[in-house]
Amino acid sequence: MNIKKAYKLLDYWKGQLRMSDYNIMLKINLKPKEMSIKGAWGVSTVNSLLKCGVIQILSEKFTDNKILHYDFEQTLVHELLHFKFDVIQDHSNKEIYTLLHQNIEDLSRALVWSKRCENVKEIENYNK
Ligand SMILES: [Zn+2]
Repeated sequence: MNIKKAYKLLDYWKGQLRMSDYNIMLKINLKPKEMSIKGAWGVSTVNSLLKCGVIQILSEKFTDNKILHYDFEQTLVHELLHFKFDVIQDHSNKEIYTLLHQNIEDLSRALVWSKRCENVKEIENYNK
């Protein structure tokens, strides 16, 4: 992923998620040792009060997980949803945090999939 395309995706999804007033820095193509959380594909550091933060995304080279398929855009949307839900994230309650995290993952997949399906429909309609 190149940084220009990554910021283009970030701008698109900030708009979709009504987060255009957030200042977010991207750090992408990171090595595992550069990630703040060991084993994570994405990490967000959020300051909700100031509506700013940093999103780290691991380089695809290091995402050879046999169960999950790495998807940069979906990882980015997942991290943006952490910004959205930051004020209700309770790290001290493991069950609640897991539930919230599962829903963030489900929503990010659904949103990215919907966007891609819309693009297919647009292409189909364009050709009619
Ligand atoms: Zn997460």
